[in-house]
Amino acid sequence: MDHDHEFVIIGAGIVGAATALELIRRRPKARIRVIEKESSPASHQSGHNSGVVHAGVYYEPGSLKARFCRAGVEATRAFCREHAVPYRTTGKLIVATTPAERNRLDALLERCRANDLEPRLLDGPAIRSLEPEVTGLAAILVQESAITDYPAITRAMLEEFRRRGGEARLGTEVTGIEERSDGVRLSLGGRSLETGRLIVCGGLQADRLARLQGLDIPFRTVPFRGEYFRLRPERSNLVAHLVYPMPDPSLPFLGVHLTPQIDGSITVGPNAVQGWKREGYEKYSFSLPDTAEMLRYPGWWKLAGRNLGAGIREGWNSAWKRGYLKQVRKYCPGLELEDLLPHPAGVRAQAVDHDGRMIHDFLLERSPRTLHVGNAPSPAATSAIPISRHICSVALEDSDRGQA
Ligand SMILES: Cc1cc2nc3c(=O)[nH]c(=O)nc-3n(C[C@H](O)[C@H](O)[C@H](O)COP(=O)(O)OP(=O)(O)OC[C@H]3O[C@@H](n4cnc5c(N)ncnc54)[C@H](O)[C@@H]3O)c2cc1C
Repeated sequence: MDHDHEFVIIGAGIVGAATALELIRRRPKARIRVIEKESSPASHQSGHNSGVVHAGVYYEPGSLKARFCRAGVEATRAFCREHAVPYRTTGKLIVATTPAERNRLDALLERCRANDLEPRLLDGPAIRSLEPEVTGLAAILVQESAITDYPAITRAMLEEFRRRGGEARLGTEVTGIEERSDGVRLSLGGRSLETGRLIVCGGLQADRLARLQGLDIPFRTVPFRGEYFRLRPERSNLVAHLVYPMPDPSLPFLGVHLTPQIDGSITVGPNAVQGWKREGYEKYSFSLPDTAEMLRYPGWWKLAGRNLGAGIREGWNSAWKRGYLKQVRKYCPGLELEDLLPHPAGVRAQAVDHDGRMIHDFLLERSPRTLHVGNAPSPAATSAIPISRHICSVALEDSDRGQA
């Protein structure tokens, strides 16, 4: 096969953009192209998130997630400095408001230490003196947490990739992937393109792109909406730190939190409710094909059965603004309904295995000439640079080993 390119990367979210830049740094003479179906980068998860640079509090010590997150803080800060992207270290409070949460706080404190952080434990008065609007029995203060502008980072990565000779083709959807012994043929609507190797960073479409190629993958991508509010401008000095509740052990998400944004506003959220459309951001977005595909997957039924209570609770709080507010008032009692203004939602791509278990760690699927990012859940925006280094090492090792 005569290749148009040595490498093609599908997806110009932050993971695809970071991977393209890392690859061209390592192989400056290679012909490398990024293909993105939307007309601008970071149109999906990378542009609809909380904007938090996570310090690595929660993750299983030694997991890829924990390692990449720790390395990601430093790498993101350095990238922002170099490319004049705003980055602000705010610190983060994780607040326990009930005796049961207070008991769990100690285990979280240990987890922070196991992840090489140096957290401080605060009692109620210490919380108040740091954040007068926040109340709790105790809290963990993590100094390293920060905020940034992930769409700006993604754009800066693509700009540098192009400056180094890479090609990025936006507004082009990959509709077919055919792997052969001597290369990979991609269908782009009516046209086709040949590449030596393919890296797929497809976010919410990760499972579909793998199956388009005929890979037998052990998961499906399930969409979880994350709905936000924005505080009215008069309340934008409410808190200076990121303020999180103690995570609910029955949910894999972090709980509705107060997040100062890089533009000076504060968001409240996100919650975690079942999505019925993978790329649907409007309230009550629904796609028949997306929903039918999900309902045909036995893993989804097992997941739904196991999390029915939490699912109903989150759904109720999504539909009922007062219920949503109640979650925040546990640690910030001064907030009122009229403080919450509308703000766009995000949709998380969550890989779920055939037994209905959410896959929490970063996951790669490989074939001789392709590498698919199967799961890149939060904090993959924080970790995008270390993830990209890992992806490039694996892809180039495969290539050098003569699988090419
Ligand atoms: C509500 C929410 C809050 C979050 N908060 C944080 C946070 O504060 N901090 C943090 O670190 N992480 C956070 N995350 C997680 C983080 O945003 C994601 O893990 C990260 O953005 C994933 O990046 P990605 O490049 O893999 O996916 P995406 O950004 O979704 O990019 C995938 C790209 O692939 C493209 N694509 C798909 N199919 C095709 C095709 N057939 N042809 C061409 N292109 C295609 C899509 O159009 C898309 O642009 C959050 C996520 C959500 C949803």
